[in-house]
Amino acid sequence: MSEIKRHTYDVVVIGAGGAGLRAAIEAREQGKKTAIISKSLFGKAHTVMAEGGAAAALGNVNPGDNWQVHFRDTMRGGKFLNNPRMAELHAREAPERILELEYWGALFDRTADGRISQRNFGGHEYARLAHVGDRTGLEMIRTLQQRVVQLQQADAAELGDPEAMLKVFAETTVTDLIKDGERLSGALGYIRETGELVLFETPAVVLATGGIGKSFKVTSNSWEYTGDGHALALRCGASLVNMEFVQFHPTGMVWPPSVKGILVTESVRGDGGVLRNAENERFMFRYVPDVFRSQYAETEAEADGWYSDPENHRRPPELLPRDEVARAINTEVKEGRGSPHGGVFLDIASRLPADQIMRKLPSMHHQFKELADVDITAEPMEVGPTCHYVMGGVEVDAATGAALVPGLFAAGEVAGGMHGSNRLGGNSLSDLLVFGRRAGLGAAEYVTELDGERPPVDPEQAERAAEQVLAPLEREDGENPYALHSELQQTMNTLVGIIRRGPEIEQALDALHKLGDRVARVGAEGGSVYNPGWHLALDLRSMLLVAEAIARAALEREESRGGHTRDDFPGMSPEWRRINLIESLTKDGRVRLRRQRVDALRPDLLELFDREELAKYFTDDELPAVPAAAV
Ligand code: FAD
Repeated sequence: MSEIKRHTYDVVVIGAGGAGLRAAIEAREQGKKTAIISKSLFGKAHTVMAEGGAAAALGNVNPGDNWQVHFRDTMRGGKFLNNPRMAELHAREAPERILELEYWGALFDRTADGRISQRNFGGHEYARLAHVGDRTGLEMIRTLQQRVVQLQQADAAELGDPEAMLKVFAETTVTDLIKDGERLSGALGYIRETGELVLFETPAVVLATGGIGKSFKVTSNSWEYTGDGHALALRCGASLVNMEFVQFHPTGMVWPPSVKGILVTESVRGDGGVLRNAENERFMFRYVPDVFRSQYAETEAEADGWYSDPENHRRPPELLPRDEVARAINTEVKEGRGSPHGGVFLDIASRLPADQIMRKLPSMHHQFKELADVDITAEPMEVGPTCHYVMGGVEVDAATGAALVPGLFAAGEVAGGMHGSNRLGGNSLSDLLVFGRRAGLGAAEYVTELDGERPPVDPEQAERAAEQVLAPLEREDGENPYALHSELQQTMNTLVGIIRRGPEIEQALDALHKLGDRVARVGAEGGSVYNPGWHLALDLRSMLLVAEAIARAALEREESRGGHTRDDFPGMSPEWRRINLIESLTKDGRVRLRRQRVDALRPDLLELFDREELAKYFTDDELPAVPAAAV
């Protein structure tokens, strides 16, 4: 048997972003011996890159805000395909989680009277995002890490070892989950620096591995977002929901080529920035869809008035949900009204004084100055859509984060359902806190219920997984992982990107199938000590599987909704709104897809919408169930 280091834990959390840290804190607070495993350095996760803020109906800036309004905005943003129970729990619990973060030491920006300040973002009726300038994620991670250290210090004082109950395994990648019959029993991975294999014997795993952006060529995501958690879940028998919904953020950098895709925060528009085309037209007024028409301004004067007097003005169309803005920019560029480098202009310079821009958007100023030699206090930015977030993910129980496999839990971006077909900005950071806590609690309760009986790790399964991990190192003449990755990204970007067509998706599936044969022969030169080629060779397995899941679901869903736009099926279909697409793997490793009826909204939640609005989304036979109060 290969040399494998062994560790035993009650709960293993894979991922050290906001969801993973919050889950681990909870599991540890419930008395469980917990490991946090992170592919990247501790402290380097997507969460740290989050800029704009965390959405929570604290009502600090506008007292009209409450969980019901937040729930309503989230459902509208997701085009009513959200898991309603998740959207409800999120809206109800987000304020408590933000206040808890403050209690643990987070220093949010303040209102004039000293409360947590909140900023405007697309799709949110009220200023709702708790923030720290445009570096909110950094403060969130700093605070959660500080809480981890606090718990470790308490363990050091009580047990003589800071890592007795909570230990971080940084730069360690999990490649396989191991099962005993139907139940989870362990996780296998490797240490990036040394190449050593490591086995975690554990009855409970929380997946908190974040997103999938690296399957696309133009993306705001960084190197580690290869969909590992999505693939691990599929490969161990769990299911994914609605993988066709991928969010293309409207504003990524388009120039220079080396930084194409890097995010330009929505806060620029939230704080007053406007989008213009090459003809200097503020074009978003032409793109307000019928379902949102009553909520958005029709003239520039009305839109501009909203920033200072939101009670008496409707919102600017630049603050429509992200899918709408991304499609509008795509159309402007395609119809020849784009900027010199294939984007459109985002102008904050003519809208706010330079000192305010520097104070509100310091990271954006730095990013453009350093990377593109553009001073955003004096000139407009050039921006265009970039693959940013995946709404689809592991199918979980709303209350506990439990996946279909006993012992497997998921939270954060890797989990599906909460955001429906399109996530509102700011709703991810709060999602991480709400559902990270719930998944940590769910895992801890699951372990308690086992009452000391732990599913054993089958040594043969572990050995087979280890052999697969080492296989690319033994194929000296294997396929080049970098070339395969580039082909995979190009395929997804051009054939399953922001605008999709049936025949092109079929072409993509064919290309992915051929790539699959080549990925099976992928090789890596050199040894196992810090070998990025080998790491990528292993990541390709996940990226390929995730790409196929996205393409299969995109082909199946014959409508356009949120982050899924079918040129050949341009409208939203009320029939399709009632359907989730669930994907799992067959025994021989093929992606299987089935349709599932969407949960109905409870009558008290239906009452939050007016009947006229629901009629735009619901089938005729659903409408009679809408309570009279909503009429
Ligand atoms: P992440 O923070 O992505 O962490 C994933 C963790 O899993 C990492 O530690 C990674 O190393 C680890 N991992 C992955 N695979 C493995 C493996 N195989 N083995 C071991 N470890 C693994 N959302 C908002 O709500 N507001 C914002 O203002 C905002 N701004 C954003 C700005 C940018 C530039 C980006 C990219 C995203 C932004 N988002 C924002 C989205 C949000 O940041 C992410 O959705 C969120 O942080 C995801 O958190 P997570 O905990 O699920 O995963």
